[in-house]
Amino acid sequence: MFKKLLVANRGTIAIRIIRACRELGIRTIAIYSTADKDALHVRMADEAVCIGPPAAEDSYLNIPAIVSTVLTYGADAVHPGYGFLSENGDFAEACKRSGVTFVGPRARHIRLMGDKPRARRIMQRAGVPVLPGSAGTGVTELRDAQEDARRLGFPVLIKAAAGGGGKGMRIARDGQELTRFFPLARAESEAAFGSRTMYLEKYLERARHVEFQILADNHRNAIHLGERDCSIQRRHQKVLEEAPCPVMTKRLRERMGKAAVRAAQVVGYSNVGTVEFLLTADEQFYFIEMNTRIQVEHGVTEMVTATDLVQESIRIATGEPLGIRQKQVEIAGSSIEMRVYAEDPDTHLPSPGVVTNHHSPGGLGVRVETALYDGYRVPVHYDPLIAKLIVHADDRSRAIARAKAALREYLIDGIKTNIPLHLKILDDADFVRGEFATDFLKRYEGAPAAVAAPLRGVANG
Ligand code: ADP
Repeated sequence: MFKKLLVANRGTIAIRIIRACRELGIRTIAIYSTADKDALHVRMADEAVCIGPPAAEDSYLNIPAIVSTVLTYGADAVHPGYGFLSENGDFAEACKRSGVTFVGPRARHIRLMGDKPRARRIMQRAGVPVLPGSAGTGVTELRDAQEDARRLGFPVLIKAAAGGGGKGMRIARDGQELTRFFPLARAESEAAFGSRTMYLEKYLERARHVEFQILADNHRNAIHLGERDCSIQRRHQKVLEEAPCPVMTKRLRERMGKAAVRAAQVVGYSNVGTVEFLLTADEQFYFIEMNTRIQVEHGVTEMVTATDLVQESIRIATGEPLGIRQKQVEIAGSSIEMRVYAEDPDTHLPSPGVVTNHHSPGGLGVRVETALYDGYRVPVHYDPLIAKLIVHADDRSRAIARAKAALREYLIDGIKTNIPLHLKILDDADFVRGEFATDFLKRYEGAPAAVAAPLRGVANG
């Protein structure tokens, strides 16, 4: 087992990793920017090192600064969490070259899945269903996109080849929209990812987002831990997730799970990963992407499978074989995660500030992952995700009741949060019946909010 692990992240996921390390007897090093000097992850780690000013580029995304901290402080492993450098092949490679273990997949798998048109091609060849879309390596010019759209038929979804966090993504319903939106999406992609390469995909109107949790070791064993339904989204970004998916059947889980495991095995993937699909009402499913890291919503899978995914990721990184076989995986009860954002519930604009009167809910089946405490200042520089409230109960209706009770108990004064939106979702008759698709949240959208500047290192999934 590792002796000392550097947590290359901040906020709730940094704390989550520190907790896992404590149970495994691993010492931890936190890194932080000057904006985070009072952050909880800094207090909780065994050691903490300031690595730069607030801007993520200069701190949490600063590969040379992080690698030199690893070497100076003698860490033998690095956990990247989600967002920031978690899907950066150069970082994984830099760790390896410095002789430390990157807790995650190999650099080439990160790069491969980060190139979405390439990932689509590989999946297609492996017999994993993908939606009709741009062929080859993608498109950079409008006229090529127009040709693809003619072949696919509208509506189409314009996507960034290097995409993430819903950035560079636009629906085009006709030729005029394509002409208007393609350059906008391409500019967004260039600003966020430094890439002008885009691709088109047939847009599915009423699909669910259903993703499978993969565990794969360095010895070619791969299993799935069932699915999560992440259809409750705003602007292609998840807001509330649950496991299992309310419309899942044993047979469909087997079919989709097999495809997800195949997706991982065909490239020789190792560590934790998530294979995302769109699922239609008539049980057709299509690969959309694979995320090569722990997801924000990993907690709901942990609750229904009684597995600690962060500890598993660390064990796999030490070279241990998986301790669990596919047949032993059982899904028990129902779990819901609500992402709590520091944002104005009406405008969706970030609401940074000092937290006063913080009380987080508790009781049977209630889990809160947060970096908040009384007097903590939510910084303006990073993702506004401030807490994840996760509930678990014997069945879905009890989980909904528990989620509502816990939300009502949650006290966060001083800043605005999206807790009111979660209460609306949980009271919605269609949600309660499990009848929803990725367009569900449109019904609760008022006037469109002003678009905030894109944040680097956003926790997108
Ligand atoms: P990102 O990596 O930016 O999060 P994804 O490819 O994972 O992008 O897609 C994000 C979300 O966008 C999905 O969860 C789904 O709601 C929607 N989406 C993606 N592809 C399609 C599609 N072809 N048709 C309909 N919705 C889609």
